[in-house]
Amino acid sequence: MTEIAIIGGGAAGAAVFGALLRHVSHAGIHWITGPSATGRGVAYATNDEWHLLNVRAAGMGLYPDQGEEFVQYAERRLGDVQGADFLPRHLFGDFIEYQLQNRIETAHRQGRHFTIYTQEALHIESSQGGYRVCLADGTGVEADIVVLALGALAPRPLRAVNSDALVSGAYELDPWRLPQRVEAPHRLLVIGTGLTAADTLLSAAHRWPRAELVAVSRHGLLPFMHPSLPAAPYPLQQGLNDVLLACSGTASMLKCVRTAWHASPQTDWRSVIDGMRPINARLWQHLTLAQRKQFLRHLRWLWEAARHRTAPQTAETLQQLLDEGRLQVHAARVLAVGGRGPLDVTVRARTSQLQSTLQADLVVQATGLDTAAAYAEHTLLSHLLQDGLAVADPLQLGVTARPDGRLLNAHGEVQPGLYAIGSLLRGNLWECTAMPEIRAAAHVLSQTLASGPVTTFSPATNPGPAQREDGSGTGHLCTAVLVQPPADAFVDQRSTIG
Ligand SMILES: Cc1cc2nc3c(=O)[nH]c(=O)nc-3n(C[C@H](O)[C@H](O)[C@H](O)COP(=O)(O)OP(=O)(O)OC[C@H]3O[C@@H](n4cnc5c(N)ncnc54)[C@H](O)[C@@H]3O)c2cc1C
Repeated sequence: MTEIAIIGGGAAGAAVFGALLRHVSHAGIHWITGPSATGRGVAYATNDEWHLLNVRAAGMGLYPDQGEEFVQYAERRLGDVQGADFLPRHLFGDFIEYQLQNRIETAHRQGRHFTIYTQEALHIESSQGGYRVCLADGTGVEADIVVLALGALAPRPLRAVNSDALVSGAYELDPWRLPQRVEAPHRLLVIGTGLTAADTLLSAAHRWPRAELVAVSRHGLLPFMHPSLPAAPYPLQQGLNDVLLACSGTASMLKCVRTAWHASPQTDWRSVIDGMRPINARLWQHLTLAQRKQFLRHLRWLWEAARHRTAPQTAETLQQLLDEGRLQVHAARVLAVGGRGPLDVTVRARTSQLQSTLQADLVVQATGLDTAAAYAEHTLLSHLLQDGLAVADPLQLGVTARPDGRLLNAHGEVQPGLYAIGSLLRGNLWECTAMPEIRAAAHVLSQTLASGPVTTFSPATNPGPAQREDGSGTGHLCTAVLVQPPADAFVDQRSTIG
């Protein structure tokens, strides 16, 4: 029997686990979830009522072939629900658990062989004819195939933050830990203005009604909002997408999109952006490395704000906070964060270039998704890179892989039996972190593995350790790894959600 291990207990892990249970009957399934709540991951573990999904209820789901869709589940729980609604994220977390439970009960009835381990996976060793996944409790799981569903990497402090500030207790690196803070701040400063920052501001505004809120990012742009009802599709989308696919770079793509908007004033611009969704991965793949860099440097902030929009209720609350003067948003670069609390945050304004220092008794880093595999403090990933089983994406967007999720090793070859799903694949797919993409990818992966015979690992293909950044390694590193992340790699990296 083929043994398949899935590492990662978030929504992507849940989608793969359920899909494999259903479609891959010849395999034993091992799901290594880590200690957090199974299936919820970062996004759906929140209990805040005002943390809303940024995809309409009708667009959310876990399995493409399930009996009950999220909308029906939500209706059963809440009563009157429309497919166009933006519902609380914790409700989707409940739905994931419910769907998982159904799949698990069915699998039990069918006598399927599967195990769930609530341990962290620390290392993947190539062992005779496959892999051994070493767990935190010292045990191991033998597998022919391993799927990495690790999600976003833990946030790292911005380089502007000094060590005193970091240990002061007044700098919060993980915005999702905010609920654990007891004392109300007088002024809370959020670094970032993307979706994670929006969540942080909403939580803080409800929790500490007297706190003054400040958000800072290079462009000072809060995410755009979804229309309250779905807008009509852009009638000429197919033609536009064909033209975009023929473009030679991001500047010409942007020009084409702008021309389309101007030529069709009756079309909601958001429909044009949404209509590009089926081709986004291909557009990204058409770009050269230099063009991708250019996009990340000059257009990413705009794309993220336009593509990953907030629910209208979220945007309205933020607007109300702005109107009441409780929230200020600055377009500025954070130059330094120092002090022992309250903290001094020195910024340079985008337009005037003037420097100023703001004092805040709580600073929250909400700069969004971190995918810089080479710099992450992630034991498993670090081992994979050191052993040459995986290679960091040259732009620090996860790891190098084929579009179907097969990882490339230090020889630049497909590493047999090693797959990834979700944000680790950003370097190849760009848009692969939201549920509509994740559930589709999990389904396709299960179909691939079901159609066997599955390619299993052969010890001869272990590439060995990768070359280290100082060149002293013994492996053959095929893809250049940036020695330093770009100077602005972390500021203004908005969550890639929706
Ligand atoms: C705040 C937020 C809101 C979002 N809202 C939406 C939305 O409304 N709609 C939408 O479609 N998408 C949304 N997204 C996108 C979201 O990323 C996906 O929907 C999905 O939740 C991603 O799941 P994941 O499993 O890839 O990642 P994660 O949720 O990050 O889960 C990964 C899990 O793997 C575990 N893990 C990591 N390493 C190991 C290891 N070595 N061993 C064991 N376990 C490990 C982690 O602890 C974590 O539990 C949102 C994302 C965020 C962050």
